Amino acid sequence: MYSKIKQIFVIFLGLFLLGATVEIFAQQPTASPTPVLYTEKTLAQMKQIQQAALQSDFALRQTAYLSYNIGARLTGSPQAQRAVEYVAGEMRKLGLDVRLQKLTVPHWVRGEERGELVEYDGMARGTKQKIVLTALGGSIATAPNGLVADVVVVNNFDELTQIGRKNIEGKIVLFNNKFDREMAAIGFGGQAYRHAAGYRGGGAIAAARFGAIGVLVRSAGGSQNRLAHTGAMRYAEGVKKIPAAAVSFEDAEMIDYLAKMGKVKIKLLLTPQTLPDTTSYNVIADLKGSEKPDEIVIVSGHLDSWDLGQGAIDDAAGVAVSMQVAYLLRQLKIRPKRTIRFVAWMNEENGVVGGRTYAQEEAANISKHFAAIESDLGANHPVGFHFAGKPEALPFLAPISKILKEQGAGLINLTEEAGTDIDPLTSKGVPSFAQWFDTRTYFNYHHTAADTFDKIVPRELAENGAVIAVLAYGLANLEQPLPR
Ligand SMILES: [Zn+2]
Repeated sequence: MYSKIKQIFVIFLGLFLLGATVEIFAQQPTASPTPVLYTEKTLAQMKQIQQAALQSDFALRQTAYLSYNIGARLTGSPQAQRAVEYVAGEMRKLGLDVRLQKLTVPHWVRGEERGELVEYDGMARGTKQKIVLTALGGSIATAPNGLVADVVVVNNFDELTQIGRKNIEGKIVLFNNKFDREMAAIGFGGQAYRHAAGYRGGGAIAAARFGAIGVLVRSAGGSQNRLAHTGAMRYAEGVKKIPAAAVSFEDAEMIDYLAKMGKVKIKLLLTPQTLPDTTSYNVIADLKGSEKPDEIVIVSGHLDSWDLGQGAIDDAAGVAVSMQVAYLLRQLKIRPKRTIRFVAWMNEENGVVGGRTYAQEEAANISKHFAAIESDLGANHPVGFHFAGKPEALPFLAPISKILKEQGAGLINLTEEAGTDIDPLTSKGVPSFAQWFDTRTYFNYHHTAADTFDKIVPRELAENGAVIAVLAYGLANLEQPLPR
């Protein structure tokens, strides 16, 4: 609740500053000492870029190619490597200066995954109940012939502690923490997700500390189409590793119901493997600035995806709209003053090796990173953008918002982080940005088998492309440094 109130407050603060700033600009006579933030020419070009983006289908075609022609791009997979080569090739075609940044990445592969209830109240002799589940990324396997154990259901970490070791030891724990669909329905999808994902990430460690031999988590998403939602999980040094899977909304409901009536026994088979680390790459492509080529504005998305669907909304769309920024500027023959650097990050989903390596290798050059944008929060209608940086910078962003307001995307949300891959830059003071999307439906598909290209609405993707392009170009041509 607190974070909701905080966010609403910040939105109003942003709007207030925005409104106040726009008014100040309108009232200044031409000889005013107020520093110029954007030249008339830059403002006109931003509008031109916005219109071109709203008309373009470049990002849509790239999203389709990454989703349908290449497919799921789990780190270490042949598809991830193919995507690296494809995107590098496309950026070279646009005449950009392209390099591959070498990374040593984890290589986890999913195997078979099956679950069935083999004992429960009222069971007809010789039957079972199928459980729809999926291994969490990084999970170890069960024994080759599966794991059979009683299930104990808890709703949260507190309940786990309350029932204690005597009720948990030798059993499989189901964390039945419900994704808050009401919260998502009013536009706080990200907040609902972060809360639920805590069980996905930390559930195995918490359960193993009380002697559990396996862990199930209710899917961290809003789908009610019996889809399991995968995602990264963690183990901790000194805590026994146990197999971990997410069960669908429906199956979590059933297990919870049956467990209230008596013993529930599950047979769980998971055969994932963690292979030796392998080599992969961030794709980096520069559109050199005309006046300050050593100052960099990053536009980015992540190229890897989970393996259940096609990684269309997460995050082919983000890569594609980022690629489109360079495409539009080429098409319009506009050159930014600062360098616009496209980055397709590798390994966002299960390691963040791409984002971390980039920040390490650029450590001496952080002050030259003028701003960073990452598109990784969906592909729905954008209402504006998130900004992770100093509140004093908000007036500098108001002219960008004013232009985006024309397409219904004029809001600014002051936040602490804008994207997983750019976080290492954000934490070193680089002003960071992301599109602010309508998240009402995003988590129905995110990390599931239904993250497929058909979920992309062409008009919304075009709006999304306009937000990132106007923002990137505006930042690249800002006449003043941003407070940081
Ligand atoms: Zn993502």
